[in-house]
Amino acid sequence: MKLGVLGSTGSVGSQTLEVYERVGGDVELVGILARRASEKLLSQAIRYKPRFVVSYEEPTKEWLSRLPSGTKFLKGDEGLDAIISESDRLMNAVSGVHGIKPAYEILRKGKVLLASNKESILCLGDFIREHRGRVLPVDSEHNALFQLLGSVSREEVKNVFITASGGPFRDKKIEELKDVSVEDALKHPRWNMGAKITVDSATLMNKGFEVLEASYLFDLPLDMIKVVIHPQSVVHAILELRDNSFLMHASPTDMRIPIMHALFYPKRMDYPFGRVSPLELSGLVFERVDTKKFRALELARWAGYMGGPYVPVLVGADEEAVELFLKGKIPFLRIVELIERALEEVELQEPKTIEEIVEAVEWGRRKVREIYEREYAGKV
Ligand code: MG
Repeated sequence: MKLGVLGSTGSVGSQTLEVYERVGGDVELVGILARRASEKLLSQAIRYKPRFVVSYEEPTKEWLSRLPSGTKFLKGDEGLDAIISESDRLMNAVSGVHGIKPAYEILRKGKVLLASNKESILCLGDFIREHRGRVLPVDSEHNALFQLLGSVSREEVKNVFITASGGPFRDKKIEELKDVSVEDALKHPRWNMGAKITVDSATLMNKGFEVLEASYLFDLPLDMIKVVIHPQSVVHAILELRDNSFLMHASPTDMRIPIMHALFYPKRMDYPFGRVSPLELSGLVFERVDTKKFRALELARWAGYMGGPYVPVLVGADEEAVELFLKGKIPFLRIVELIERALEEVELQEPKTIEEIVEAVEWGRRKVREIYEREYAGKV
């Protein structure tokens, strides 16, 4: 199998390379891609010796001179095309809206998409649905659902649950959320992730996104997809079957497990990073979500029902609002408030091209910025 890793220097990208190196199997590394020609990208090229290393930034002469002899540097979209054309499977771990185009090109060229980038799944909804036979989800909840849904027939399934850790504010009252700090929001109890997604986990917008993603990835009606709080983050998804049996998927909170699954599917490989005892799964707790406290969840669902430009606008509005929060410009609860306001003002046509999708995302960003400047700037 020929593998391309897009977004190789990020968390999922680096762990994909680690799995590639440690698990073995019959995998050839075609190329790695990152936005910046960083020291990390160079060290990955030296260590894993792909055929192509691609960045969107011009590297220095010194950087280029240190590449291994069998590795060729290509810049930007030319490099993206080369990696996609030469690979069978591509990990799309590019971060943010930059991941939309790669996902589209991978599927358009008939290749298998290992889908980690959320924005592409959210913004290419129908396109993802049409090509879902070639999409292997990497996010832990969707990877779990993929495995569960593959083991039963659709008529047997009554509801689908994805789990949420509940984030750092699971036990706080709404009133207490008024003055939580950036540091509080960045303390995720389970996963160690980037700042944006950690804040999205604190508002539960991340889970709202995942409900929409599940709908596109598995062609399920939104009403069928529920969320349950599960603080241990060991069970990732649950199927409720017609006869009231529940099928659950459990694995330790280690992204290398879903990465391994997607990389080698349908083969299941040995986990090379140590054994986990089933005793570590004891004491599982499930709780109802407080949707009054975590309004992001219903807001995302609403955007999904509306369809058209609403989901790309939601993605952009969330990016901007989270950024304002991280910069200390707005309090925590205003993140969702600003997103809601932006969604209420949507007056766009349904986007039909990648460019129009990205434009709708940008529109969401601008709208939040505009509302903030108009009404809140300077008065946190
Ligand atoms: Mg997840």
